[in-house]
Amino acid sequence: MLQEQEAHAAEMERTFIAIKPDGVQRGLISEIISRFEQKGFKLVAIKIVVPSKDFAKKHYHDLKERPFFNGLCDFLSSGPVFAMVWEGEGVIKYGRKLIGATDPQKSEPGTIRGDLAVVVGRNIIHGSDGPETAKDEIGLWFKPEELVSYTSNAEKWVYGVN
Ligand code: UDP
Ligand code: MG
Repeated sequence: MLQEQEAHAAEMERTFIAIKPDGVQRGLISEIISRFEQKGFKLVAIKIVVPSKDFAKKHYHDLKERPFFNGLCDFLSSGPVFAMVWEGEGVIKYGRKLIGATDPQKSEPGTIRGDLAVVVGRNIIHGSDGPETAKDEIGLWFKPEELVSYTSNAEKWVYGVN
């Protein structure tokens, strides 16, 4: 049992997920939250904010050489972004699976982008792509005290570990 608990604790991760202005304006907040919540992941932080263009540039700094960078940063800062941190075993990688491929034309049906978006420039959601970016993005968008640590009653049923 102790080994199971330790293995469970070691696998726990957090990832940064954001509904971009198109997803907020299209009324998709609750749909997107539901997909993560129903999977069994745990919401540990939320905020709704209109990021400045400078902030958007920080968030997407890895893409600064790409031709779409300026338009992307204009778009992210064009309206409210619904920012979240989700916690769970494997949530970084599996969160990307729930989201689907970057280009919604290539996202599988059943994924968020596959079901709810059509073009790459309006693909409604962002998710961290690995442990390092998850850490950096959570740190950029949230203060440590905005992350809530708690035990969900569902956890023992989701993981089979007490
Ligand atoms: N993007 C775009 N045109 C492209 C590729 C990407 O407008 O040809 C946008 C798209 O909104 C994407 C974001 O840039 O979600 C970040 O690109 P990335 O490759 O990191 O994709 P993601 O991690 O969001 O799947
Ligand atoms: Mg990315």
